[in-house]
Amino acid sequence: MRKIAIVGGGQAGLPLALGLLANGFEVTVASNRSPDDILNGRVMSSQCMFDAALQIERDLGLDHWGATCPTVDGIGLTVPHPDAPHERLIDWSARLDRPARAVDQRIKMPALMHEFERRGGTLLIADVGVADLERLAAENDLVLLAAGKGELTRMFERDAGRSAFDRPQRALALTYVNGLRRAAEYSRVAFNLIPGVGEYFVFPALTTGGPCDIMVFEGVPGGPMDCWRDIRTPQAHLEQSLDLLRTFLPWEAERATHVELTDANGILAGSFAPTVRKPVATLPSGKLVFGLGDAVVISDPITGQGSNNATKAARVYLDAILAHGDRPYTREWMEQTFERFWEYGEKVVTWTNSLLCPPPPHILDMLGAAGNCPPLASAIANGFNHPPDYFPWWVDADACERFVAQCMGLARRGSGLAVGAASAAGGAIINRMGMASSMPRSASAPTTRK
Ligand SMILES: Cc1cc2nc3c(=O)[nH]c(=O)nc-3n(C[C@H](O)[C@H](O)[C@H](O)COP(=O)(O)OP(=O)(O)OC[C@H]3O[C@@H](n4cnc5c(N)ncnc54)[C@H](O)[C@@H]3O)c2cc1C
Repeated sequence: MRKIAIVGGGQAGLPLALGLLANGFEVTVASNRSPDDILNGRVMSSQCMFDAALQIERDLGLDHWGATCPTVDGIGLTVPHPDAPHERLIDWSARLDRPARAVDQRIKMPALMHEFERRGGTLLIADVGVADLERLAAENDLVLLAAGKGELTRMFERDAGRSAFDRPQRALALTYVNGLRRAAEYSRVAFNLIPGVGEYFVFPALTTGGPCDIMVFEGVPGGPMDCWRDIRTPQAHLEQSLDLLRTFLPWEAERATHVELTDANGILAGSFAPTVRKPVATLPSGKLVFGLGDAVVISDPITGQGSNNATKAARVYLDAILAHGDRPYTREWMEQTFERFWEYGEKVVTWTNSLLCPPPPHILDMLGAAGNCPPLASAIANGFNHPPDYFPWWVDADACERFVAQCMGLARRGSGLAVGAASAAGGAIINRMGMASSMPRSASAPTTRK
């Protein structure tokens, strides 16, 4: 029986471990936190997962929350008017073809760890260092490092050619709340983009105490949403969250009038640089360690893709391991396996990074036009499930113009709208977006409206 060790029991490591167990491998997972540590610890993510990633979990028999986790049924985009912050310059939403879900990792990871042990896996609670990796490498046919943002992942060399940034692009904060007023019509990720300040998105989820909503703040460094450093208590964190909403997004503040924290651990603040690393590290003995998930591709949460990526990478690695039979896991095999994931991952990273930079005019026009064009809004919303669908039109202005025209044509045929009416309304929005695009958007020139 082939033996595989995975360091890190998170969204990347555990699905792979359980998939390997189901296929007759002898698997060890090493985690520096026990299931109870995780359950009783601080939230780690907003972990919204779209259908394609959820399907991988379903295929592996790991979907235990389909009935209890509230669904996220759509995506909405709102941009406040630059001159009248209480008005919405852009405001649309579209349904997802299939729902997304966010199960608090404090629930999911302990449950999957217990399941891993029940199915015959060995769970080792240890803060793994290089000496432990050597031991695991001596005892196993393959060692994977899926330790997320853990220090140990620095053993993978940063891939400068694939890493667009060398510093954090957003100051991040999470606030898990109860009592948020529901969005009209259907549940959604309500994504608010405040030029020069940052982004705020909020959506329903399942946490340790039951259904909740997760607020995510993405502050442009040095701007008014980069404001978490001096916050000392959970209540102060909640107050800061609400203060930002009252200042920049009054419609979101209105929904949040009666919120309270889900629990004292339902908050998080921090930042990290989006980074792609080389997927193979060499131990002092010459043995190899293969990287998986955030350990090698860590993206800003602005597009909510990290857990989705981790799950999809786990599936690619699982398929590659199964296809590899009894042959040795060489550096070449590891690099080829990573490249197979990167064919997909590169698009996700490119799209995600694009949202961290000042948007080019064709993106602004397209986001504005979607307010008048349901097929376009639907394409943008559903791309979160499979970001390669955004290409080439997200990155190529000509392709974007053609795609928007195509969607406009579909909208006219679908709604029976007169051509002029649709174009005029869309054009008005796009023109107004022109005003927004002249606003400062870089970290060096934040707007403050306090
Ligand atoms: C604020 C925020 C919001 C996010 N929102 C979303 C979202 O909405 N949608 C989405 O898809 N993604 C989101 N993400 C990203 C997502 O959470 C991660 O991409 C995902 O959890 C990565 O999974 P992983 O298994 O690679 O790493 P992790 O989930 O970090 O798991 C790694 C595990 O390894 C353990 N470990 C670390 N070092 C060691 C060691 N030395 N020895 C043993 N164990 C070790 C850690 O304790 C941890 O349990 C968000 C992230 C943040 C920070």
